Amino acid sequence: MGLTEAVRNSDDALTTLDIIRRTTEYFKRHNVDSPRLTTELMLCEILKCNRVGLYMHYDKPLENNELEYLRDMLRRRVRREPLQYILGSTEFFGLYFKVSPDVLIPRPETELLVEQAKKYIKNSGKSSPIILDIGTGSGCIAIALANAFAQSSVTAIDISESALVIANENGRLNGTSNVRFLQGDIFDNNISLNLTEKYDVIVSNPPYIQENDIAGLQPEVGHFEPLIALTDKGDGLTFYRRFAEIFRFLLNENGCFFIEIGYEQADSVCEIFSVTDFETAVSNDYAGIPRIISGHASIQTNCQNRQT
Ligand code: GLN
Repeated sequence: MGLTEAVRNSDDALTTLDIIRRTTEYFKRHNVDSPRLTTELMLCEILKCNRVGLYMHYDKPLENNELEYLRDMLRRRVRREPLQYILGSTEFFGLYFKVSPDVLIPRPETELLVEQAKKYIKNSGKSSPIILDIGTGSGCIAIALANAFAQSSVTAIDISESALVIANENGRLNGTSNVRFLQGDIFDNNISLNLTEKYDVIVSNPPYIQENDIAGLQPEVGHFEPLIALTDKGDGLTFYRRFAEIFRFLLNENGCFFIEIGYEQADSVCEIFSVTDFETAVSNDYAGIPRIISGHASIQTNCQNRQT
């Protein structure tokens, strides 16, 4: 069964349930991940309802224009475009985020980073923390933290103007008024002119994939997500080296940072920070892979120990 048969317009109008079955089969044959869920989420977007809503109207025939919309989504997904770009949105930390190919798709691993920063802030007892997010992309980390701490003041920077358009929109969509999005390059020596404050918490999920590994990424990532958000076009450690230099003057004396790292980078990143007198701790993600490094200036109390 080809694409046309999967969702053709026939004399016997196809119901929502028929379409769910046929499209799921179609995705299975094309080795698309989570075929049923993908189908349901596409139909929810087309019919503007939630997943329960789909089954409440399972016998409703689909209009031709709805079928046309679905066909277009199917075509895009079997060409390996990520579902989130096709839908134009995703969920992160329980919040709604608009996404486009100008921004990296927020990942569940990054929710761990937010979770850790949140715990640290809670335990530090700071009622109005000053937070910096470097390379904010869709704004997911900055907005999730701003939302969790209404009294916080969050600055989020990114080099990409087009990413900042999406980040600003996400701020509006989530009703977040305590995030300031700024265009800036952290490798620019004048960056301190823009970032005049000292921060209690610095968070970042920087581009950490080595240039040589880009070709081996799954097509959903390598062909569709923005290269500038994925790789430093070097050995994957360029941003961490820069962080080790600039966190000295950006972090408050009791401040802590939480940064995401890639596969097998933990030792190298801890080493980079130890040279500039930071103490670091590593935490694993859901798959047991070292994923988050937290740290603070050596003379300070350990960020991890303050967490409960
Ligand atoms: N901070 C954003 C995220 O975590 C973007 C990260 C990036 O572009 N490397 O999804």
